[in-house]
Amino acid sequence: MSKIVVKIGSNVLTRPDGKPNITNMSALVDQVAHLYAKGHKIVLVSSGAVACGKSDVFVKKDLNPVESRQLYSAVGQIRLINLYAQFFNAYGIVAGQILTQKENFSSREAYLNQRGCMMTMLENGVIPIVNENDTVSLTELMFTDNDELSGLIAAMIDADVLIILSNIDGIFSGHPDDPGASLIPSISPEADLSQFIKVTKSKHGRGGMLTKYNIASKLAAEGVKVIIAKGDRRNVLVDLIEHPEDVPHTAFIPAVEGLSTVKRWIAHSGSFSKGRIFINKKASEVLLSDNIVSLLPIGAIGIEGEWEEGDIVSIYDEEKDKCIAIGKANLSSLEAGESLGKHGKKPLVHYDYLYIV
Ligand code: GLU
Repeated sequence: MSKIVVKIGSNVLTRPDGKPNITNMSALVDQVAHLYAKGHKIVLVSSGAVACGKSDVFVKKDLNPVESRQLYSAVGQIRLINLYAQFFNAYGIVAGQILTQKENFSSREAYLNQRGCMMTMLENGVIPIVNENDTVSLTELMFTDNDELSGLIAAMIDADVLIILSNIDGIFSGHPDDPGASLIPSISPEADLSQFIKVTKSKHGRGGMLTKYNIASKLAAEGVKVIIAKGDRRNVLVDLIEHPEDVPHTAFIPAVEGLSTVKRWIAHSGSFSKGRIFINKKASEVLLSDNIVSLLPIGAIGIEGEWEEGDIVSIYDEEKDKCIAIGKANLSSLEAGESLGKHGKKPLVHYDYLYIV
């Protein structure tokens, strides 16, 4: 029995003419219902709201990107969730909607609140269907795409595996259309294959293979297995879980020494950082060594920004150009500023809340 997060991309749920791909959706629900009946706990991260809404509304005047995202997602999300609810009902399964945004991941309190909601749903047999709340997300504070969101969710619920369903079988050793390129079946945590990734965006969604690769490598390094596979392959989900050798895919092998849940949260929180702490060379060396150390004020030479205890901060080197670590602040920026360079003070960031980048 495992905890599985399945990310379904807009391209899987949208036909070339922009209409919802009901066939793919019902086939995926069918497979999720099968896995659910076997006792697996499943969370869906589903894109497709914007794409779905586009085919439903005829706009009267040109819309800017924000207006169109808001309008189409408002219309498309209910369409999408209704279809899911209908399909799951046929199996006697109850699904629930979670619409979220970046702010819900930025403080430990908000994070645990959201985690609590999802855990309660899972404990009560409800399948959470997650999407970004595109109607209110501010452009500069949006998730890069739902691949990023699915990575955050997988880390949040301590998933055993994240399955990213796309319109391609996985990562290839060249351009997927090139006859010489072959599918890479598994990627170890140390490998850097970013040069193989085709940097094109998907047709209907925001994502692309490079973000998928980056999210997958990061999660695998934290101890979560990630699989990229083609969403409209017959029985893809069930096969990936029950006999993966039968289905083409790329698996990111998880590092043996995974991270604690709290460190996973911090690892994904760099973009919520409220401020920066600059540290001297010696402190950088100590942090980057294998020793278990907290960040002490004695090695800090400056700060930038304002934060409260518990907020996320980034730790930079002396030259101020390289982020070495991300952590949960143990002191407010005011207290941190007063203890800079001093001996015998409380740590700026405790080891348990420090993630080395
Ligand atoms: N949240 C967007 C939607 O439902 C999708 C974002 C993405 O393409 O990753 O349309």
